[in-house]
Amino acid sequence: MAELRPRAGKAIQQFSFVDALVAGLLDGAFPASEVSAAGDLGVGCGDALDGELVLLDGVMHVCRGDGSVRIVAPGELLPFAEVVRFEPVFERSLTGPLGEVAFEHLVESIVPSDNLFYALRVDGVFGGMTVREAVRQQRPYPGLADAVKSQHENSVGATRGTIVGFKGPDVFQGLSVADFHLHYLDDAREFGGHVMDFELQSATLQIEAYSTFTLRLPEVASYLAAELDDIEADAAIRQAESS
Ligand SMILES: [Zn+2]
Repeated sequence: MAELRPRAGKAIQQFSFVDALVAGLLDGAFPASEVSAAGDLGVGCGDALDGELVLLDGVMHVCRGDGSVRIVAPGELLPFAEVVRFEPVFERSLTGPLGEVAFEHLVESIVPSDNLFYALRVDGVFGGMTVREAVRQQRPYPGLADAVKSQHENSVGATRGTIVGFKGPDVFQGLSVADFHLHYLDDAREFGGHVMDFELQSATLQIEAYSTFTLRLPEVASYLAAELDDIEADAAIRQAESS
């Protein structure tokens, strides 16, 4: 395998930015088909924060607050997503037990710098997995910090599946998510969401690095009219995304 460094021509493609969610801009703005066309692995959230998205091998599922999981239709509109065309240059077998914090420390010891972007994929067997799913919000939309107060947390015992997500530089907090942002989908496509905690038993870890970050802005009316000059972003994101 090649060295874990960004390669020319490869980029993270992000649709909207986290501060927009923090400000309550939860309107779906990008057709799922356009998001899927930009990559085959990624994360995101549903229209009006209706569930957590997992893009895996080019198929997009949404894990909803009622615990259900379904495939996202091409015409559904999404408020936020972050995707890549995943071509990992690093792969390692992991043997547990390995908790979420230990897993993050391990990845930090592998990557060459905290100041680049990385996409992660972990296919494995877990002794336990805790996720949360945001639930559909009603207009007028609350900010992200209030919206996640209604999120559902779900745990399962033994589960086999895939974690997908990103590790981003701290200075991108607000545009993206600083540090780790991971979603899970089980092999049966029946359980998943935004990763809160897990115990990994055995898995294969794959990583690709990126030095290019591409951001597409929404063009929906609510975004165009929004005043985005007064966002307590950092605290709100950390509260919403902390795992
Ligand atoms: Zn998430």
